[in-house]
Amino acid sequence: MSEKNPREVLAQAKDVSKSYDGGRIVVLRDVSLSVRSGEVVALWGASGSGKSTLLHLLGGLDVPDRGELTVCGLDPRIEANRLELRRHRLGFIFQLHNLIPDLTVEENLRIPALAVGRGTKETAARVRELTAQVDLGHRLGHRIQDLSGGERQRTAICRALMNSPRLLLADEPTGSLDETTGSTVFGLLKQLAERERIAVVLATHERRFAEACHRIIRVRDGRLDEVAT
Ligand code: ADP
Ligand code: MG
Repeated sequence: MSEKNPREVLAQAKDVSKSYDGGRIVVLRDVSLSVRSGEVVALWGASGSGKSTLLHLLGGLDVPDRGELTVCGLDPRIEANRLELRRHRLGFIFQLHNLIPDLTVEENLRIPALAVGRGTKETAARVRELTAQVDLGHRLGHRIQDLSGGERQRTAICRALMNSPRLLLADEPTGSLDETTGSTVFGLLKQLAERERIAVVLATHERRFAEACHRIIRVRDGRLDEVAT
């Protein structure tokens, strides 16, 4: 579908509002956003501005108070759609890798494939294909707890892409890394997304990462503003 329609909208929010604490903490006020296939879009804003909240709404990890959402053609507010989104259409990367520390890289990467019943051979090939692209091929048998922070995040990128999602949601994926490692991981993530033609929505408070994305959406005072790049 993406080949036929390269400008397909993969994430859309229309007049979405979200507050917490019974409306006392208003995080997003009638925000709208549209992300098309192949785009790498930064949600750029200070800590507490609502970046994670918006990613959680797009990923069906939380529900908006009002407004419409369409993600990879499905409404993530509907529970039945969330499983489909998580298994097949969406990838997530968090600030902390959220991998299983005493399993190896390869074992961690097999989990999403197992969840969709993919065959062993095909899974192994996908593991090799992805890890080669982030320079992790020599670490497949190593346990996560024995890896560096950068290697863990590179594993997390591969895990998110295992089932070939259309859209990747990345929440401060370099936030726990030092500056140099962060740049390397960011570069690999962007390169891999472009190669696999995946749209990315990436939350960051760091201007340098936002500027390396195709589009920058400023998140501030509950609103979104596209910054000219
Ligand atoms: P960011 O990711 O940009 O740092 P968040 O989306 O995490 O910002 O948070 C935005 C605001 O919403 C913050 O003030 C935060 O404290 C508040 N917030 C986020 N999640 C919750 C929650 N579950 N309950 C109450 N307040 C929350
Ligand atoms: Mg956050």
